[in-house]
Amino acid sequence: MKNDWKKIRKSLEKRMDPKRYEHTLGVEYTAAALAMRYDASVSDARLAGLLHDCAKCLSDKKRLAICKKQNISISEVEHRNPFLLHTKVGSYLAMAEYGVEDQDVLNAILNHTTGRPGMSLLEKIIFIADYIEPNRKHAPNLEEIRKLSFRDLDGALLRILEDTVAYLEDGGGETDPMTRKTYEYYRKRKKGA
Ligand code: FE
Ligand code: FE
Repeated sequence: MKNDWKKIRKSLEKRMDPKRYEHTLGVEYTAAALAMRYDASVSDARLAGLLHDCAKCLSDKKRLAICKKQNISISEVEHRNPFLLHTKVGSYLAMAEYGVEDQDVLNAILNHTTGRPGMSLLEKIIFIADYIEPNRKHAPNLEEIRKLSFRDLDGALLRILEDTVAYLEDGGGETDPMTRKTYEYYRKRKKGA
């Protein structure tokens, strides 16, 4: 099914609620635009953008069952918040059901929520596209971050991480330790630059 955009979209439309599907298309196009701007593969960006939330509309029960069956490790935070597993399960489904073999595309799906230290260009593009796509409304500083994303990719990445850590610490949800790790990594790198 790889790179058969029509087929992938149809399949996703079936497994998602309408809002999630709209978000998915928003991430696909935003990721493609960022890939054009930063010389990344447009088709990889579209593929990862389309599939990044493919496990988001499964039940927690189903996500946990897939992890168990596929021997996917579950951290303590993920046990308490199984929706976080949509990254790991999504990456698995991309491979098993959509035939994705490219490790960079799979990593972009895997790391789209928390990021990770030393992200690839594609991972950054998907992480940022997920945050700025046109259907998003409530993130703080969104207008500014949208513009920044097309001027300075790493600057936008750091701003998003900063705002995400602040939001989560403000009671918006439990922080996955990886979000903080990613934030510290890019904060230090910017200071060192
Ligand atoms: Fe997601
Ligand atoms: Fe998303």
